[in-house]
Amino acid sequence: MIDFELNEEQAAVEKMVRDWAAKTVAPRIHDLDRAHKFEPSFLKDMGEMGLLGICIPEQYGGAGMDYVSLGLASEEAEYVDTHLRVILSVHVGLNSMTLWCWGTEEQKQKYLVPQAKGEKIATYGLTEPNAGSDAVGIQTTAVKKGDKYVLNGEKYWISLADVADNFLVIAWTDLEKKKNRDHSGLSAFIVERSFKGFSSYTMKEKWGILAGNTGGFSMQDVEVPAANLVGQEGEGFKVAMFALENGRYTVAAGATGLIRACLDASLKYASTRQTFGVPIGQHQLVKEMISQMVSDYDAARLLWLRAGWMKNQGKRNNRETSLAKWFATVGSERAASDCVQIHGGNGFSDEYPAGRFDRNCTAAVIYEGTREIHKLMQADYALGYRTDKPRRVDLPAYQKK
Ligand SMILES: Cc1cc2nc3c(=O)[nH]c(=O)nc-3n(C[C@H](O)[C@H](O)[C@H](O)COP(=O)(O)OP(=O)(O)OC[C@H]3O[C@@H](n4cnc5c(N)ncnc54)[C@H](O)[C@@H]3O)c2cc1C
Repeated sequence: MIDFELNEEQAAVEKMVRDWAAKTVAPRIHDLDRAHKFEPSFLKDMGEMGLLGICIPEQYGGAGMDYVSLGLASEEAEYVDTHLRVILSVHVGLNSMTLWCWGTEEQKQKYLVPQAKGEKIATYGLTEPNAGSDAVGIQTTAVKKGDKYVLNGEKYWISLADVADNFLVIAWTDLEKKKNRDHSGLSAFIVERSFKGFSSYTMKEKWGILAGNTGGFSMQDVEVPAANLVGQEGEGFKVAMFALENGRYTVAAGATGLIRACLDASLKYASTRQTFGVPIGQHQLVKEMISQMVSDYDAARLLWLRAGWMKNQGKRNNRETSLAKWFATVGSERAASDCVQIHGGNGFSDEYPAGRFDRNCTAAVIYEGTREIHKLMQADYALGYRTDKPRRVDLPAYQKK
């Protein structure tokens, strides 16, 4: 049975995020974006609404909602500004959902519960100055000394780097395997900002998602308790890929929201701006741009909803999530570029939101698997070069309360 209706709980989440973002964020986002300012009170609001633990079970401090609700919150957040959705991506999708599935009970009590309640903020540290798509190219090491691991390395392009309290960090524990680029030498750790030897910074030259915080962090002889190893030693690559499967789901839903934002702004402008005696919406070539946004929005939404439905059912969805992320992010780039075009010269001014949409959409075509990586994945699935093998840990099906 296929059901295209949202249930009551899903519709309520969608409305809650939509209303909050419209009332609280939309009136301020122009100024925050221009000032490159991250607004911490938005995090507090998101925590109070239960969004920071939206699909984490109630027993771990979360709201216990389904995965479609996470997608809806992501779509509504990015409709107003990408940086809000990035918070959901890194804090919930990449970090908290991973701790919930891979973490020990002790880790869940110590880290997941406060994260799900919004008392602590979390992010994800895989990328380094010389390795992004090529995850096994990272250089960070974690050397075991007694009941601790000593971490050394630099993480770069990290969302919420200067905001988060807890970091899910991927590092090499087997230095022989590092030499051979064998990913079974990688492990995952929870690193706290408060650990000695940890320092972070905000990137100043970023040109998009300006109201968001992005930066890097450095670990110099950071002693991490062995109890903070996530999964088993050597499972870091699997943990990292598992995390991405959930993070990129939120990116897909968020980019869908950005397409809708471009569409709505374009509809408004095209109905009022006149050229040659008629509203520009009556010109065929403007209609073409509008209709492309309409088709991209509907297709992107159906693709992420399918992935969310599969997550709810406990079905593997790596292929479907990758497709949803690739399609929605590329669609959002097209929509943002056309939104600028429809606004003509005004599209080139920050008096209108089109330019912000255009600056914000690009990063999502790069992070959580670049456009090229997703293209390759889709071809490999189609050609039979890639299949999803059984995993020791999977995302559980949604259990209705
Ligand atoms: C705003 C922002 C926020 C981010 N937040 C985080 C975060 O919170 N945590 C985190 O860990 N990372 C984060 N990242 C990093 C992001 O995940 C990486 O930038 C991304 O994975 C790409 O890696 P790279 O930048 O090293 O590019 P590269 O991997 O060097 O790629 C450069 C180009 O080469 C192409 N390419 C690479 N390999 C292949 C191949 N095999 N075949 C075809 N083409 C290829 C790529 O598609 C791309 O076009 C963020 C990035 C941005 C921009």
